[in-house]
Amino acid sequence: MVRVGVLAVQGDFLEHSHALERVGLETVEVRLPSQLDDVDGLIIPGGESTTIVQLIDIYKFRDVLKAKSDSGFPIWGTCAGMIVMAAKLTDKRPDPLKLMDIVVTRNAFGRQVDSFEADITVSGMSGPPFRAVFIRAPIVTEVGKDVKVLAKLKNGNAVAVRQGNLLATAFHPELTEDSRMHLIFSKMIKDST
Ligand code: GLN
Repeated sequence: MVRVGVLAVQGDFLEHSHALERVGLETVEVRLPSQLDDVDGLIIPGGESTTIVQLIDIYKFRDVLKAKSDSGFPIWGTCAGMIVMAAKLTDKRPDPLKLMDIVVTRNAFGRQVDSFEADITVSGMSGPPFRAVFIRAPIVTEVGKDVKVLAKLKNGNAVAVRQGNLLATAFHPELTEDSRMHLIFSKMIKDST
């Protein structure tokens, strides 16, 4: 049985747990680094990236997560989680964990379009386009050579990327009934174990 951890320090971790349960996966709310040894992969949820990074440092997750990530442990960041995983931000804050070779711009759609939905085509996903919910969302502005862009908005902004064991999405698949993104991550975990 695959056990998926959801980093439960701040943000919408509960919605991710419910989405994982819907696809039949066991979930664990991760609040301490030692719990990472009991799970096969980790989701870093949406929320407020500055707060999440602060709590990551207070609970001493930073070095453990970097080591796990470098050793092939599957990690998926959604929205604020994507910001947390980045190598670099165009903002001064927060100091990201540098797990993934991407540059990310926070709040890329500004105040006027605080949140919106868009149908996107995700590479490797079968069926109709995925209805993606964006809330004060970031975008990926640069990717390293090992990073594959899985989805773009019509304007060309990259909003889903993968680098081996690492997945990042600018949108919130945990807020809709469509489980296909969670199934993609679940397959990444199964392939890695
Ligand atoms: N704008 C938030 C941040 O920069 C992310 C928003 C979200 O996770 N929905 O942390």
